[in-house]
Amino acid sequence: MSPFSPLFMNEIRSLGLKDVGFDVPLAPISRWKIGGDADIVVCPHSTTEVAQVVQLCKAHDVALFVMGDGSNMLIDSKGFRGVVMKIGAPMSKIEISGTRVTCGAGIWVPYMAKCLANAGLTGLEHVVGIPGTLGGLVLMNGGSQRKGVGSHVRRVTCVLPDSSIRDYTQEELGYSYRHSALQGAGVVITEVELVLANGDVSQIRRDQIDIMASRRKKFPKNLPNCGSTFLSNPAMYETVGPPGKAIEDAGLKGVALGGAQISPLHANFIVNRGNATSDDVLALIAYTRQTVFERTGYKMDCEARFLTETGEERPAHEFTDADRFDASLLDALISRVND
Ligand SMILES: Cc1cc2nc3c(=O)[nH]c(=O)nc-3n(C[C@H](O)[C@H](O)[C@H](O)COP(=O)(O)OP(=O)(O)OC[C@H]3O[C@@H](n4cnc5c(N)ncnc54)[C@H](O)[C@@H]3O)c2cc1C
Repeated sequence: MSPFSPLFMNEIRSLGLKDVGFDVPLAPISRWKIGGDADIVVCPHSTTEVAQVVQLCKAHDVALFVMGDGSNMLIDSKGFRGVVMKIGAPMSKIEISGTRVTCGAGIWVPYMAKCLANAGLTGLEHVVGIPGTLGGLVLMNGGSQRKGVGSHVRRVTCVLPDSSIRDYTQEELGYSYRHSALQGAGVVITEVELVLANGDVSQIRRDQIDIMASRRKKFPKNLPNCGSTFLSNPAMYETVGPPGKAIEDAGLKGVALGGAQISPLHANFIVNRGNATSDDVLALIAYTRQTVFERTGYKMDCEARFLTETGEERPAHEFTDADRFDASLLDALISRVND
């Protein structure tokens, strides 16, 4: 039975959205392949549709979660009681005018990087292998080679929690390493304007091919994962190294808890061996964080974010309190897997 009022259900149906589903399993649309059912999933086709759904959810006090490709999200195995708004292909236009590029927030980042290369625009080669949408990338200030997309963002159009539409400038977005002021602000990014520089098409393509080749060697690709689990911390980087090295030095490469495993290929990746639950991943994060802390004195924070059944969404380590995930009890659950 629907947890929502008949009035809400009537109103959401009467919006006439092209893409709306009820009781939708989230595991297939998240990169970790973990997550129960969402009550409702909508895929808007325009900023106007986004604003209509935001307004309706607010008026009926229904939880709303905005998702791109789910490539940085751990979703509760209990599912999500509310509306998931998936910004994807229907909002993925790209317009290039000189060195200015305007994209819908749902554009697939590797495809955007190829369009930039074809247009001879340089600056964002480093995002070519990041499997997510531009909205997620802009929110996370994602990138590789210690760079972030934020340095090329000129304007971001968002629908605010009160359903009004507002443009943000780069200065207002407070970009720092894997951080933007939009995180936790409850906004929906619908469009992004980027500024790049003119470059040489063949050089840009060569650089992208090199980046892809190096990523293919380093990162696990056969088992579902969410990329880097933990964030690099500059002080820890100087003395201990990046999270992957700290985890490997702690002897944790390959260890498993339930269906979740520290990747034997890259220790900062947690892979789903087939039947992992969100609790398996959270427990493995808690265990890894505590073990590395005991060895190095650094508590690693997560880049991956967790969405609870009731709509709380924050970096995953914030859900690994010691009461629930006591490291000495977890010891008994840890196993070593050879492959
Ligand atoms: C194999 C693999 C490799 C990866 N490598 C990298 C890497 O090199 N560098 C890197 O930075 N990341 C990497 N990631 C992580 C991930 O791809 C990025 O964080 C990506 O930018 C997330 O985009 P998404 O669309 O999947 O966002 P999601 O995972 O769906 O969401 C992430 C956050 O963004 C929010 N969000 C998404 N879209 C919108 C929107 N339109 N408006 C408002 N909020 C929104 C969500 O609410 C959530 O808080 C990797 C992931 C994988 C699986």
